[in-house]
Amino acid sequence: MNRLKPSHLINLFFRLRLLDALHRAVNRNRLTVLAYHRIDDPHAPGFDTFAPNVSATPAQFTAQMAHLSRRYTVVSIDDVTAWLRGEHSLPPYPALITFDDGYADNFRHALPVLKKFGFPAVVFLATDYIGRSEPFFWDLAAYCFTRTEKTSVTLPPAGELHWGDADSRTVAMVGWLERLKTLSDAEKWAHIHALPDLLEVSVPADAFAGLTMTWDEVRTMLAHGVAMGAHTMSHPVLTRVSPAQARAEISGSKACIEAETGVPVTAFAYHNGHPADFNAEIQRHLKETGIEAAFTLLPGPIPLAEVRRAPLTIGRMFLSHKDPLPRFAAKLVGLPRMLGFPR
Ligand SMILES: [Zn+2]
Repeated sequence: MNRLKPSHLINLFFRLRLLDALHRAVNRNRLTVLAYHRIDDPHAPGFDTFAPNVSATPAQFTAQMAHLSRRYTVVSIDDVTAWLRGEHSLPPYPALITFDDGYADNFRHALPVLKKFGFPAVVFLATDYIGRSEPFFWDLAAYCFTRTEKTSVTLPPAGELHWGDADSRTVAMVGWLERLKTLSDAEKWAHIHALPDLLEVSVPADAFAGLTMTWDEVRTMLAHGVAMGAHTMSHPVLTRVSPAQARAEISGSKACIEAETGVPVTAFAYHNGHPADFNAEIQRHLKETGIEAAFTLLPGPIPLAEVRRAPLTIGRMFLSHKDPLPRFAAKLVGLPRMLGFPR
């Protein structure tokens, strides 16, 4: 007999509208925060950056916003911080749309859809990368792994890696990147910088031009109701750099956005966002800097009382282009977590 897979169960729940019933029962007084990164088509010819960071294709994103529009009240980050300050209440079924990093596809692909639905959102910018052609380390790694002719390599700290097809190559790359995240930021970059030579790939200076937003695009987003939050300057895991650098990364990214836009920044998102990636000292500095809400990747949705109790560790739903609509809907009611597969 076939074992019933979680995906079959989710499809069944979705078709029978049980997810909607669950949503109505549990989400009224919870904050549902969607954690997007990129909105793009990772299967498009020539796509050579980090596909796991693509949260949805433009078509998926449109369907997801339609799903939200029928079930949630999409609130802005200003609504959330004003509620945290006790200035007003939040509507029933509040949802907050967030994007991390500052990719240009947020401007090109997400903004038109947000405008169509009249939804606010917030983008957390890693400010060193805005308006520049420097790649994030995972995109440089993906570029090299996609373009190399090699099928094996010895790559510290992981050792010998082999792959046969695109899928096994992605598994090898993601495993290596996960190992890098456990190192100090300096060690991580030393390994990243050695990668093109080890994989025998040359990287032209303009290989990543246009991948992140320009400051003009940021300002256009703001003019259409998309707020900006801070996401550090150089995008380190804050617990993998010195406390002084962590403080500089937080204050510097906030000050940079405020200087470029003239709008105060009151929200922050942690890189990676797992429990080992932030601590009490970092939260204290966020608070001192004027950050009122900070977002992790601890799985949500989160009861409003809990958000109010811990506004600097708010959970979100990590989204992937591999999520069909039923799984997206299931994530938004916390079902995968209940079934034991949080991501
Ligand atoms: Zn990030």
